[in-house]
This record gives sequence, structure tokens and C-alpha cells, in this order.
Amino acid sequence: MSAPVTFTCSCCGQVYDEMPLCFGGQYPDYYFDVPPDEREARIELSESLCVIDDHYFHRGRITIPIIDYEEDLTFNVWTTISKANFELRSELWDDPKRIEQQPYFGWLQTLVPTYGSTLNLKTIAHESEVGYIPAIKVTDDHQLRYDQEHGITFQEALNKVQQILKEWHKGG
Ligand SMILES: [Zn+2]
Repeated sequence: MSAPVTFTCSCCGQVYDEMPLCFGGQYPDYYFDVPPDEREARIELSESLCVIDDHYFHRGRITIPIIDYEEDLTFNVWTTISKANFELRSELWDDPKRIEQQPYFGWLQTLVPTYGSTLNLKTIAHESEVGYIPAIKVTDDHQLRYDQEHGITFQEALNKVQQILKEWHKGG
């Protein structure tokens, strides 16, 4: 199947250059537990790392293979990470050998759209090459894990994308 030239949102007709297949949360869910007027003092946030009080988070990517399409569906998510592993990751940030590290355990901190309740699922994060965020694998028994392992069809991906855009476009 070849990619359509443009992609049109089924809810509102908005036209995209291509079908959006990468979605993500900007902050770990815990961020929203911190009152807005305390965020500056309590939260240290960079593009892919976050510290809130003494809680550590990092950003990674969940990939759902699309069986009959040339691209995958991806979600950029946040998970918790232990302080020791956070420090290790920071230390190895620019080290090409970091891909040899054992995976890091974490609790999922992003509500992955169309997958119901995904907060605090168990995950492991595999380091990627320098310049890329880690690959997150869900290890709890959940649809998200099933789809990661087995993939979904293009039609299922399309349904998810339309559902996600509909939520966004209604401002939900
Ligand atoms: Zn729309």
C-alpha cells in the first residue's frame, strides 16, 4: 500500500501533508499534580528529561508496527526512572556504547491515546543510538503490549489516528 499524498481529518476536514503517525505527551503525568504556581520552583524540564521534587522521568518511544504499511505508529511517552539510572543515562548521554546498557525499568507516565488506562503500566526502556530517545516496551499485560508485539493493521491504525485527531480537534 502506498502512502496517500495528503491526509484529511474525518472530523473536520483539516488536510495534512501526510497521515500523522507520531503522537506524544509533552510532560510526564505527574507534572499536572504540581500546582501551576509551584512548577517553576519544583520542576526541572528539558526536552527528554524531567525531575519533579525527588522523582525522575525520561522520555522514550513506544512503537506499534503497522503490519501492512511502510511506517509504524509511534507514541512519545514519559516513564519514571530511578535516580541511579537517571544519573547513568545523563552520564552516558553522548556515549555510543550506551546501547549496550541493560534496559531501565519505569512506570508509564503518559496516557497513550486510544489505549484506555495506561498510567503506571510497567515498562522497560532500551537505550537507542546517541541522538534518539529510548525504545519503551510495555511489560504489563495490556493491549498496548499486545499491539507492540503483534502489530496492527493499516485500517486499525487509521481508526486510531482519526480518533486521536477527533479528540484533539474538539479540544478534549
Ligand atoms: Zn478534525
